[in-house]
Amino acid sequence: MTLPLVYYPDPLLNQLSKKVSDVIRVQKLCSEMIKTMEAENGIGISAVQVGELLRVAIIHKDADKELKDHLVVINPKIFSASKETEDGEEGCLSIPGVFGQVLRNKKIKVRFTDPEGMEQKIKATGLFSRVLQHEIDHLDGMLFIERATKITKGEKMLAHEELL
Ligand SMILES: [Zn+2]
Repeated sequence: MTLPLVYYPDPLLNQLSKKVSDVIRVQKLCSEMIKTMEAENGIGISAVQVGELLRVAIIHKDADKELKDHLVVINPKIFSASKETEDGEEGCLSIPGVFGQVLRNKKIKVRFTDPEGMEQKIKATGLFSRVLQHEIDHLDGMLFIERATKITKGEKMLAHEELL
């Protein structure tokens, strides 16, 4: 089953998501989030985007050539980030048609719990690093448009206040 998306400017998108204490309880949510991400052609998705304020995100396997399957991250935490940054284009399933340039740390290290409840650490660079930072921002109630410059919708360049 796919889930309905939460769209900007729904205030839910600015709320802080809660830590997951029991991974068993989010397994069904994870499989539904994966189906929703695939159906919507997203490169990543966070639980708040399907209406659940829980610290769960999925990164599409296409974000990194070393990923064999979509990566489910529960309670992800960036514990190391490169000083080096990289500007790149981002969009968001919750803000259709809007794109912007966002400065992100080039390389990050993230610890998280996997769907089996095991603690994991992962290094990410490039697009993978960018998608992880974008999704972790969602868990903290932060949208890419709050960090972006050169925001566009279609052909039109927008000022921040024009988004609504
Ligand atoms: Zn997003």
